[in-house]
Amino acid sequence: MTKVRGLAALSKGAPFTRFDFERRELGEHDVLLDIVFAGICHSDIHQIREEWGPALFPMVPGHEIAGIVREIGSSVTKFSVGDHIGVGVFIDSCRQCQPCKDGLEQYCDQGMTGTYNTLERDGKTVAMGGYSNVFVVNENYAVTIPKSMPLDGVAPLLCAGITLYSPLKHWKAGKGTRVAVMGLGGLGHMGVKFAHALGAHVTVISHSPGKRDAALAMGADEFICVKDPKDLKPFARSFDLILNTVSAQIDINDYLATLSIDGTLVVIGLPGAPYPVHAGSLLDGRKSLAGSMIGGIAQTQEMINFSAEHGIVSDVEVIAADYVDKAYERTVASDVKYRFVIDVSTI
Ligand code: NAP
Ligand code: ZN
Ligand code: ZN
Repeated sequence: MTKVRGLAALSKGAPFTRFDFERRELGEHDVLLDIVFAGICHSDIHQIREEWGPALFPMVPGHEIAGIVREIGSSVTKFSVGDHIGVGVFIDSCRQCQPCKDGLEQYCDQGMTGTYNTLERDGKTVAMGGYSNVFVVNENYAVTIPKSMPLDGVAPLLCAGITLYSPLKHWKAGKGTRVAVMGLGGLGHMGVKFAHALGAHVTVISHSPGKRDAALAMGADEFICVKDPKDLKPFARSFDLILNTVSAQIDINDYLATLSIDGTLVVIGLPGAPYPVHAGSLLDGRKSLAGSMIGGIAQTQEMINFSAEHGIVSDVEVIAADYVDKAYERTVASDVKYRFVIDVSTI
């Protein structure tokens, strides 16, 4: 077993505390990595606060993991010692079903195995996430990070990045597509960078007026500040694709009105309570309301390579372990610019 230093919440909403635990022996197909940076995703906060239902404690969250390979199992072919690698939102899946075979492991028929707050596939080991200094993972559930990329700026790509890249590709965003990104937080800011790099016309819809300059600097063509639904009125039928990354409960019907005919609004933010949708919001304009969850391993590697090629990384604020509680508060207050990343050497 490998000893690990982590940061855990011992119960629902509890402040973080140093928590030591062990990870499994290195298996034949496993790699052991020294984690360097771990991003803070709003999903970590939803789970610690049990906003998605009962959770497993002690919880070591973290599914935006960037590190360096220290050891490899005897049959590992994908990685070598010293490689920079990333681990995201899941660490396993059934590997047999059609979605798994199609590279859609996140939609595994038997359910993906999350990086934390779940039992691993042995049915007994509690998965512990990336707010820790060492990780052990099967080689097929990690991706290569080119050494030219800074590990702090790359860590958030493992969740925030792929979660926005995947729907942009699925709905074919590109030249001539009018994309709107709702919410300029960790996910949203990656959406702006990718949509811009793909050649789309990008609009940010935010409730924070102070984020305008940053949005434009990231590649947004327009910025709409919405404090009241009437602020959206002038933008009726303006967008082909809307990516909703808002972490809070909002009235989605107001936003559906800004879709063009045949447009699609993709739900990505997951506040935990249902969205009421008026049928009329969809009928008038043959509109679609869709959802999207992270992305598969092959597409995650594609996204990392695309990012390297286009010089895309996350805008991060690197923090020490003792700042994580404060970082949660600031994230919930939409005061994140634009992803907190933990320097795990400070744990
Ligand atoms: P985040 O950094 O906190 O960003 C969320 C943004 O939503 C905020 O920065 C803010 O942007 C906006 N917002 C927050 N409260 C709002 C309110 N009351 N009214 C209007 N806008 C509000 O969170 P994140 O890490 O990007 O995650 C966003 C959501 O996606 C979370 O619910 C998370 O669980 C979910 N998620 C889903 C997936 C998936 O696979 N589908 C993956 C990861 C995360 P402005 O200040 O610009 O308005
Ligand atoms: Zn996440
Ligand atoms: Zn499967």
